[in-house]
Amino acid sequence: MIDEKKLTKELKRLMKLPFAPQNSEDAEQLMAEYRRIARRDARSLAHFLRAVDHLVDTSSRVPPPAMLANAILETPVPEREKAPMGCEICQGNGWQSFTRMVGKQLLDYADFCVCDLGQFLRNAEIKRKQERSSKGAA
Ligand SMILES: [Zn+2]
Repeated sequence: MIDEKKLTKELKRLMKLPFAPQNSEDAEQLMAEYRRIARRDARSLAHFLRAVDHLVDTSSRVPPPAMLANAILETPVPEREKAPMGCEICQGNGWQSFTRMVGKQLLDYADFCVCDLGQFLRNAEIKRKQERSSKGAA
């Protein structure tokens, strides 16, 4: 799920902390452990990035792998990433597209999917609209 290049960029930020292994073999080994933990524990790149930010801000040395794992577990998952998984119809994006005959033309439409994710997005959209209209009224 997490893009490899972007993940590596974040891992390198960790490796810039003091006391990183000087030996390139050791450094690669540590990166491999970090990568394994990121893939296992991080919900998304944004989630992982928050954990890395926290470590870069607070750690005075390159963290051992367990410390990275802990930081990820203690980092709240960003709100929108708590969204349910999509389904086969929407292929995980919460939208389904369909075509409809309007007059003599076949037009493309998109709507929220019928699955949990689609309904989650629909509700979020309704909430956004309500917030916008209540702000407009105030
Ligand atoms: Zn769906």
